[in-house]
Amino acid sequence: MDWIDLRSDTVTRPTPGMREAMAHAEVGDDVYGEDPTVNALQQRLAVKLGFERALFLPSGTQANLIALMAHCQRGDEYLVGDQAHTYRFEGGGAAVLGSIQPQPITNESDGTLSLHAIERAIKPLDPHFARSRLLCLEDTWHGRVLPLDYLRDARALCDRRGLRLHLDGARLFNAAVEQRLPARDIAQFFDSVSVCFSKGLGAPVGSVLCGSHALIEDARRWRKVCGGGMRQAGILAAACLHALDHHIERLADDHARAARLAAGIADLATLKLVGQHTNMVFIDVPITHLPAFRTHMDAAGVRLSIGYLPSIRMVVHLDIDDSGIDAAIAALRSFAP
Ligand SMILES: *Cc1c(COP(=O)(O)O)cnc(C)c1O
Repeated sequence: MDWIDLRSDTVTRPTPGMREAMAHAEVGDDVYGEDPTVNALQQRLAVKLGFERALFLPSGTQANLIALMAHCQRGDEYLVGDQAHTYRFEGGGAAVLGSIQPQPITNESDGTLSLHAIERAIKPLDPHFARSRLLCLEDTWHGRVLPLDYLRDARALCDRRGLRLHLDGARLFNAAVEQRLPARDIAQFFDSVSVCFSKGLGAPVGSVLCGSHALIEDARRWRKVCGGGMRQAGILAAACLHALDHHIERLADDHARAARLAAGIADLATLKLVGQHTNMVFIDVPITHLPAFRTHMDAAGVRLSIGYLPSIRMVVHLDIDDSGIDAAIAALRSFAP
């Protein structure tokens, strides 16, 4: 059975063109810095986002962890949304592996963190406290695009209070495409940016961290320490280069299909449409109906990740076409608890 898999945009499989690019990649040993395809990817993303340098890493989790470890020392802290991926979904790596204390700040419903709350959470330089060093934002956050004005204000606050600013930009290109801006217009406010290639961009593996020369030097060291130094990684980087060429503008198709999915179920009473942002659609299903809902959607061949209450998230991606959206709408509409 070919599932219509809306659990996440991580489920995409490499296209034939991407596999072709991977098969023909020139490679070398990237731990020695000798893989030409990895070097080309790093160079290209650094230029594209307006940074001095970039580093290819196996995952977004490792890219964020290593960014945090490069910005912060043992006993420093980073301020982060309480619903941010880095804080909630990365196993507490900053604390566990980096000896970096997280200071969670409540995420507003639009994904921003109140600047006032950030300001109040910054600790005085005093031996009683961890040293507040870094602010970490996420864009898109649960599909939501952070307003450019907010990013500008957050940058100004960081400058005023001596914080660095990191972006978990796993879906940075979704934000850029939605705002019809070059991604560097978003990236310009940050000291470092991580980008995932294994989400909507459709590569099988890989993230890139961008930053200054000095930051990436440190990150390179921490990547090795964390076991992320890969050898003939050009095969993977080739997939990411292919994604930069072919899979960025098309993110607009995912956003349009997500909007169509949302419109197709907006009038339902049993499943309440909560919202649609970029490539994500959120619905609420009464908790008593959840087991029946899961069985119904499974039978219809539509896969959802239902565990993450309060809302169920549906994610549109490269492997979901118009007929997949039609089938998902039909399945959702025919649910009768
Ligand atoms: C997926 C994701 C990550 C981490 O990605 P992995 O490659 O799965 O480790 C980081 N941040 C956000 C917002 C994500 O969605």
